[in-house]
Amino acid sequence: MTKMDDIISLSKRKGFVFQSSEIYTGLNGCWDYGPLGVELLKNVKDSWWRSMTYRENVVGLDASILMHPKVWEASGHTAQFSDPMIDNKFSKKRFRADVLLEEHAHKLRKKGKGQKANELEEKLASIKENSDYYDLIMEYGIKDEGSDDWTDVKNFNLMFKTFVGSVEEASNTVYLRPETAQGIFVNFKNVMESARQKIPFGIAQIGKAFRNEINTRNFLFRTREFEQMEMQYFVKPGTEMEAFDYWLEQRLDWYKSLGMKESKLRIKTHDKLAHYANRAVDIEYEFPFGWGEIEGIHSRTDFDLSRHQEFSGKKLEYVDTVNKERYVPFVIETSAGASRGFMAFLVDAYDEETITNEKGKSDLRKVLRFSPKLSPVKVAVFPLVNKDGMPRIAKEIYQDIQQHFACEYDHAGAIGRRYRRQDEIGTPFCITVDGESVENKTVTIRARDSMEQVRIPISEIKSYLIERL
Ligand code: ATP
Repeated sequence: MTKMDDIISLSKRKGFVFQSSEIYTGLNGCWDYGPLGVELLKNVKDSWWRSMTYRENVVGLDASILMHPKVWEASGHTAQFSDPMIDNKFSKKRFRADVLLEEHAHKLRKKGKGQKANELEEKLASIKENSDYYDLIMEYGIKDEGSDDWTDVKNFNLMFKTFVGSVEEASNTVYLRPETAQGIFVNFKNVMESARQKIPFGIAQIGKAFRNEINTRNFLFRTREFEQMEMQYFVKPGTEMEAFDYWLEQRLDWYKSLGMKESKLRIKTHDKLAHYANRAVDIEYEFPFGWGEIEGIHSRTDFDLSRHQEFSGKKLEYVDTVNKERYVPFVIETSAGASRGFMAFLVDAYDEETITNEKGKSDLRKVLRFSPKLSPVKVAVFPLVNKDGMPRIAKEIYQDIQQHFACEYDHAGAIGRRYRRQDEIGTPFCITVDGESVENKTVTIRARDSMEQVRIPISEIKSYLIERL
């Protein structure tokens, strides 16, 4: 089994992530977050929110998922938000043509044909039209189920369409937003004026986004419904590169501050820029299936605000009263996937080690080494045995600290097994009430990573935890 399979199976077993509508055989590309998953996801989002908006010049927003259809015309999504799709006539399977070629390059590299892989990637980067994908697929002899009977490459729009009101007709068409960013752009004026912000300032938003992805794959990496954490930072034209450097560093620091391994993070600079961008990088994480984007940082010039100005007929300028100038601000965007980030943190935390257990035998310990800030459960409380006054003291401690931290009480099974259960879900601290606790009001606290135990007075538990969490 690959590590990814272990993680997916642990996710289900422990209640992090379930397949959506599982009892009906599931709905492809959709996942449900269980009791521990919802805590972890919330911790990721809360940490992002604190780091992005608890500062002087970034404020929050929560825009609706359904927006006026003109928004997507202005943003270019109606015309251009599509993937090149190709069908294999024999296997009847549909693929993203670019992904098919990228994966082929990946396979070539794995087989030691690095130069051929580089060659293919270069050709991919200079593709101009859909027929170029087809030509490359044929040139490299790419097959599915042994067949190279491919259709032409067609564009497939990724936006989910639905209707407002009771009549299903074109004039009532609306879309589920494919990104949260446009909610920010169309509220630029509202937010700036109501929050009395001056350039440079940012607007941050966390919310669901929907894309009718052709190939959903790799667990939470590419799903049809997901959450984004985006911030648009509005600056004076000409100052955007400085802001870009600043936010790129801030965003990298955020992942590292939550314990993500530096060796698993890298920055990939876009050589091919979207027509409106003057700089773009991806922050990538090395998943068990290879490097994948977890966040994009884009310098989007004045494209978005200018387009909305044009399509809405409303001025979206900034008036600088001090320097007596007016301009449409430039934008630096930081666009992170909450669910992709969730998966990266989960993968990064997963560890297996062989230890000597309480009985002196060697044992496999599975442990999620989350930063305590992300751990879904911060503390577990155990009575060593279910008698001699221990449960009463343990319950009291549990009820007390539960008011401050996400906490679990467990009295079932051998103590070693209980520790192991908490290790598997990444709980940083376990408190055990034993015979000594009854005599002298002390407990042991065990740390997840070192497995070391210290004995402290019950009265000091709270300060001990506050310091470390
Ligand atoms: P990709 O090339 O992987 O499809 P993208 O370049 O289209 O991604 P953006 O539009 O820049 O991605 O979206 C910003 C972020 O939103 C991504 O870095 C990713 O974390 C997240 N994201 C995008 N699409 C999905 C998806 N289908 N499932 C989960 N997260 C996604």
